Amino acid sequence: MAELAPYAISEVNSRGRRIAEEAPCGRSQFQRDRDRIIHSGAFRRLEYKTQVFVNHEGDLFRTRLTHSIEVAQIARSIARRLRLNEDLVEAISLAHDLGHTPFGHAGQDALNACMKEYGGFEHNLQSLRVVDLLEERYAAFDGLNLCFETREGILKHCSAINAVKLEGLGERFLHNRRPSLEAQIANLADEIAYNNHDMDDGLRSGLIELEQLATVPLVATHLHEVRTAYPDLPERRVVHETVRRMINTLVSDLIRQSERNISAHGLSNIEDVHTAPVMIAFSAEMIEQQRALKNFLHTHLYRHYRVMRMSSKAQRIISELFAIFMQDVRLLPPPFQRQAEQERARAVADYIAGMTDRYAIREHRRIFAVEEVLA
Ligand code: MG
Repeated sequence: MAELAPYAISEVNSRGRRIAEEAPCGRSQFQRDRDRIIHSGAFRRLEYKTQVFVNHEGDLFRTRLTHSIEVAQIARSIARRLRLNEDLVEAISLAHDLGHTPFGHAGQDALNACMKEYGGFEHNLQSLRVVDLLEERYAAFDGLNLCFETREGILKHCSAINAVKLEGLGERFLHNRRPSLEAQIANLADEIAYNNHDMDDGLRSGLIELEQLATVPLVATHLHEVRTAYPDLPERRVVHETVRRMINTLVSDLIRQSERNISAHGLSNIEDVHTAPVMIAFSAEMIEQQRALKNFLHTHLYRHYRVMRMSSKAQRIISELFAIFMQDVRLLPPPFQRQAEQERARAVADYIAGMTDRYAIREHRRIFAVEEVLA
């Protein structure tokens, strides 16, 4: 592998782990972080959590797990080209959605509304809570005891109120400093991944059609190229070929623009990264093109009546579970009951956020369905 750029995160400039540990043998500190994430329970649960389509709607749709793997793939390609820390971007990407609730954004919004009077619920912060606290696997510490830079990358956004409570990790939100370039990459790789795979899943579901999408310039250009070069290609292959070219275009644009930004600002070390503006970025033209795609997906997919029906069911499941557990903590499994003695609402939120889609549906049935005698 090429030598890391001087402004990359490395083991030398890393701020280390909260609890000091012996250096790993035969792998880097950030590889160790990635390995801990992959072995966590929260990571395995991503397999049964919704991205857009609820898990039982079809076997080929993305889940949070396959989404996270796609993000990691895109992020690593970008990091390697920019001579940044590939292991770190991989760890951040695989962990970025660990705190996501069941049922995608509908679930997150519902839980946030339930938690309004108790400090709110934000999935970035919850991902951090998972890796810092909720995973119970290691003898010597709670959570996964990840490196500062991995945790920093997971915490994409944070309100000032919460930033104050987070000490070192919250500083950048209070002092207007940027996270590592590796964190910036994971953030945009997330965007590239979901725009493209949501389009692909939307087409597969039949909720949107290719001809409609041809009104979006980014799609139109690549679709036209594919159809011209391969006039007889079956539709599914046209879709895949178009999506793969779109991802390529976005990734190449991002690399080119970021290189330009980095050299224009003359970055020479990690401190420069923290004080410079955001360096990892698309060109102005590509931002515009992506915006048109996002707008399309919002109007035609995320707000499609069939998606809305599922979201509405999901919101009801989450808010009813929240209400009943708040009313009677004796319905919670014992470990959460113990936590609820200290912080009732947060314990309920941790329990609900950890659920997979199907677990939440089953739990709701176990508690509310009269025919379920032995819950
Ligand atoms: Mg994501």
